[in-house]
Amino acid sequence: MKVYHIAYEPTYKSLDIHFWTECNLGCRGCYTRYELYDFGLIDDPVGQLATKPQEASPGRFLSFDEVMAFLEGLEIKYAIFMGTEAALDPELPKLARVLHEKFHSYNIILTNGLKLTDMEHIDEVILSIKAYSEDIHRDYTGRSNKKILENFRKIYNSVKKMQAETVLIPDYIDAREVERVAKFVASVDKNITFRIDAYFPVVDCPWRAATKEEVAEAAKLAKKHLNNVTCLTLDMQRIGEKAVRIF
Ligand code: SF4
Repeated sequence: MKVYHIAYEPTYKSLDIHFWTECNLGCRGCYTRYELYDFGLIDDPVGQLATKPQEASPGRFLSFDEVMAFLEGLEIKYAIFMGTEAALDPELPKLARVLHEKFHSYNIILTNGLKLTDMEHIDEVILSIKAYSEDIHRDYTGRSNKKILENFRKIYNSVKKMQAETVLIPDYIDAREVERVAKFVASVDKNITFRIDAYFPVVDCPWRAATKEEVAEAAKLAKKHLNNVTCLTLDMQRIGEKAVRIF
């Protein structure tokens, strides 16, 4: 399968399973190109990524049996499927099922929503909407967002819990654009939790970091439409122990 890295957060008994698929979007600010490993392993990811050149793709992938062998003896409360686009790995549904059966984990997938996967053993979906405006979405990802917005509704109707997320990029995917995303999410359900992440720079992209004030302004606009808006700003500190690398 396409698992190349696994990290574990002891405080939350949370397992981060990183997949490396050929992502179906080409986001200009994609962090996975610059850092292959879990941000929970790094003390200062924002500082580190500011100067880091792009990395080569991972060289080794684990088979399903190897993944299971690495998990032996762990207590897993949460399993988070992440990396590039985990939904593109055909073995993901099997892994989610076995984690449910063996560890009784709460399974969460981070996805861009372009391709649907079997959600039977997924408890929560966090869908990242890069932009609502078609022109901005195409410019940032190289693809239309029509299917993603359509799938957002489909996924919402098929899973137990859903969250939406978007990244605020100053003077590009700005507060007004974040508000458009929030408005769309509210058209599905105004109680869906919506998280706004502050962008932080990588070397090949022209944008500066989003300030706390800019994120707060975007949140204020999003709250006009949605009941649950949260923010991830760059000054946030790690809560709990540092993650450990399992593979
Ligand atoms: S959807 Fe995620 S993994 Fe894919 S290109 Fe965009 S940021 Fe990267």
